Amino acid sequence: MTQLEILIEAIPKYQPGADLAVLERAYRFSEASHQGQQRASGEPYLSHPLEVAHLLVDFKMDVTTVTAGLLHDVLEDTHATKDQLEREFGKEIAELVDGVTKLGKLAFSSREERQAENFRKMLIAMARDLRVIMIKLADRLHNMRTLHFLPNDKGRKIAQETLDIYAPLAHRLGMANVKAELEDLALRTLHADDYQDLQRRVAKRRLERETDINQVITIIEKKLSEVGIESQIRGRPKHFYSIWKKMHDQGREFDEIYDLTAVRVLTSSVRDCYGALGVIHSLWKPVPGRFKDFIAMPKVNMYQSLHTTVIGPKGEPVEIQIRTWEMHHIAEEGIAAHWLYKEKKTTGKDKVDESFAWLRQLMETQQDTKDPSEFLDSVRVDLFQNEVYVFTPKGDVKALPEGATPIDFAYTVHTKVGEHTVGAKVNGKLVPLRYVLRQGDIVEIITSPSQHPSRDWLKIVKSTRARSKINQWLKVEERARSIELGREMFDREAKKYRLNATALLTGEEIKKVAADLGHPTVDDLIAAVGYGKASIHQLLNRLTPGGLIEPVERPRPSATRPKTDQGVRIRGVEDLLVRFAKCCNPLPGDPIVGFITRGRGLTVHARDCLTVAKSVLDRERIIDVEWDVEEPAKRPVRVAVYIGRDRPGLLSEITGAIGGKNGNITKAEVTVTDDRRGINNFVIEVADLSQLQDIMTAIREVPDVINVERVRGL
Ligand code: MN
Repeated sequence: MTQLEILIEAIPKYQPGADLAVLERAYRFSEASHQGQQRASGEPYLSHPLEVAHLLVDFKMDVTTVTAGLLHDVLEDTHATKDQLEREFGKEIAELVDGVTKLGKLAFSSREERQAENFRKMLIAMARDLRVIMIKLADRLHNMRTLHFLPNDKGRKIAQETLDIYAPLAHRLGMANVKAELEDLALRTLHADDYQDLQRRVAKRRLERETDINQVITIIEKKLSEVGIESQIRGRPKHFYSIWKKMHDQGREFDEIYDLTAVRVLTSSVRDCYGALGVIHSLWKPVPGRFKDFIAMPKVNMYQSLHTTVIGPKGEPVEIQIRTWEMHHIAEEGIAAHWLYKEKKTTGKDKVDESFAWLRQLMETQQDTKDPSEFLDSVRVDLFQNEVYVFTPKGDVKALPEGATPIDFAYTVHTKVGEHTVGAKVNGKLVPLRYVLRQGDIVEIITSPSQHPSRDWLKIVKSTRARSKINQWLKVEERARSIELGREMFDREAKKYRLNATALLTGEEIKKVAADLGHPTVDDLIAAVGYGKASIHQLLNRLTPGGLIEPVERPRPSATRPKTDQGVRIRGVEDLLVRFAKCCNPLPGDPIVGFITRGRGLTVHARDCLTVAKSVLDRERIIDVEWDVEEPAKRPVRVAVYIGRDRPGLLSEITGAIGGKNGNITKAEVTVTDDRRGINNFVIEVADLSQLQDIMTAIREVPDVINVERVRGL
């Protein structure tokens, strides 16, 4: 029988009515596509997809998945295209092959456990259809079986990745057999000497152990049949990796682990499981605390069994697992067996949905898990629907909440990277900072030492880490600004009374005053002045023996009309120095508020500027102001222009667009990266918001400009 005939015969046994014609065509297609290619073993390449297809049949996968298994390497290794696959075999198969190909391109580089966990979750999230994961596992299993044909270092890398990613993934999917084989194969490559040593020791002891185990089995079998419980009892082989890991992690001896007698009782009903348990506990004394009922409380990966340890006929502990045949299949084959049981109830089309139903069930089970270590040990699948997994350019995976932006990403790389983010490239293309990251994006952050966090960032970040880091920075920054402002106020006020500001600030007296007013340091006191929480006048009074006398300089005479030379009209307030807040840099046309800083005049903020709302303790210091339309003054505004491809003449077209709308450029910073993308920052003087909008529209129309944003702050 040919390989193809074996497949054709096997599938209808578990999937009656499967479309085998497609399978045959896929076989021919794969054969033709891989024509002339060889495996490292020297065999024709086709042997690999064929083995993968056989494994998928072992997993009891539907014919669509087996077909995709035959084709799984044609996109990666041959000239075949996804469109071609879709035409020849339909969308479903093309999508599966494409999914496997995409997973193959993800390189896992970190050894860190958290990274591995993210990577596994991302594999599941990216695959969308769990059948893609199944093909990937079959692919990996066959590659591991033939790993010895590869050069050593390459083989080690694959073996390590298998141990970090694919074996745990198989475990999460409940595929105990696949997991055990992957681990043993990885151990053989990574620790060849240990592996051979274990092989020798197991072989030497096997007969002896089997005699002991058989004795236990015979006794249980006899007792169970006496009470009418039908069962099959087996010794439980331990795989090499699990022995090796226990020896390593727990520092235990080979004998201690290997000699432990372990048997498994398989019955045909749940009732018989509990019946068998009763019989065994009446035969031998159970070890207290070792009984676990995973039938009533299944594990996250659907595993069900009764576990108990008893003191056996030789006075040694015997580990016993009791489960039904169905539970056994699910324990050994995991999701594959589950599929099989589901298959009987429904047909074709719902399968994809079902794979999600399975995951959903997994999630629900997990939420009910009581044992915290069990919980931690389980994949947090419930998270993956609310998380996106993206890559650093080096291939590390970062997990971020859904809706996260490049700033969130930057803060996961490093706080300093986050703080200096000016732009980002996603999959090689420049994107605005508010871009919402998608599954599998490769994100590169562009930083600039002159960039700093702003309150606007709080509106677009989604991760708690980024949010708290930004807040932290703003707090420090706010304090620094307050101190600076407090100093200026102190200087100016001191000058009025011909006092020596420097001497007062560095003298002993001010320390006492600070302490009296409840400020730990002089800086805190000065910051309070800057905030407006402490009065500068009172402070100077206390610092001056005998109190302040009349100021030497009189304040400037009051103007009869509010100052409008800066384009702002202020109702009811006279003679104030008008400044525009740097944080929001409002333009005529933006809704604004005024904020009175004692001794400092009036600061005009955009109405929605968070700096006003948050730092103002004294609400009375906010006043209504409006733009003076009669005396417009030009105001500078910063605009960021994202370009997709730099080319000769582009800059002049952009500046031309600005000039064409009468914008006056006062500053231009042009950043072009190696791949000719870039951000150009312009400071443009404009009369008002509508002129700015006109200018931005004009810039957007220049070819190769991706986006234009007004940057708050200057
Ligand atoms: Mn392959």
